[in-house]
Amino acid sequence: MNAGKELKEIFFETKRLISACEEMGLEPPMLPEGALEFMERPVLRKPAPPSAQSMNPEKSAPETLKNKPPSPQFDSLEALRAHIGDCRRCNLHNGRKHMVFGEGNPKARLVFVGEGPGVDEDREGRPFVGKSGQLLTRIIENGMGLTRDMVYICNVVKCHPPGNRDPKPDEISVCLPFLKAQLSIIGPEVICALGRVACQALMGGDFKITRDRGKWRIYEGIPLMPTFHPAYLLRNAAAKRPVWDDVKSIMGKLGLEVTQNG
Ligand code: URA
Repeated sequence: MNAGKELKEIFFETKRLISACEEMGLEPPMLPEGALEFMERPVLRKPAPPSAQSMNPEKSAPETLKNKPPSPQFDSLEALRAHIGDCRRCNLHNGRKHMVFGEGNPKARLVFVGEGPGVDEDREGRPFVGKSGQLLTRIIENGMGLTRDMVYICNVVKCHPPGNRDPKPDEISVCLPFLKAQLSIIGPEVICALGRVACQALMGGDFKITRDRGKWRIYEGIPLMPTFHPAYLLRNAAAKRPVWDDVKSIMGKLGLEVTQNG
């Protein structure tokens, strides 16, 4: 067996062990950050004519290459969406009705990033359409004076985690490259990360939503405002004031006028 093949088998076995641990309710072994992504990456380095292969990867790719992560060559959301296809890269696909890719203006100046689709989003295949989505829509429309189709709305994971649980680290690491590709294609001026999961996925490290919300961060050169998730606002009316402060800060960064009083 050649070295490349052997390496692929080791990666395959590692991923299989992680899934088995999770299925048995055991804590999977600790892997260094980015290890799962790295295990996918070697298949990207397969020699191939870059243009044809990158824009139409599924056509010629053998079975084992179909789960490769997004590549920076994707220059449109449509191409990225086509590449993701009928995704089965993690276990979340088992319980989903629809994958929720994201929606809005592909050239949006502002992108909202949530955690993952809820039941309503799973049913409709659209992000933030349930109760917390309606609140987000009110923030966009009444608070910011914008419309949903002026901004872009998406999530860290694209499939509904069963029982509305938090997405697991391996689910996040498999799906995060797609969010990153969306952000890189859209190239917004500001990202608003909604809640702990979105903030931690994009900021990593020891991000704490109660400590760090409202403080500008930088993601890949783009100002990022961490704020509370609308679902949290629905349970904690007192969080409305700080979120309104964050909204005003975002409007200021975009050079837009604040029309309401929160
Ligand atoms: N919560 C999220 O984080 N995302 C959605 O799309 C809906 C609810």
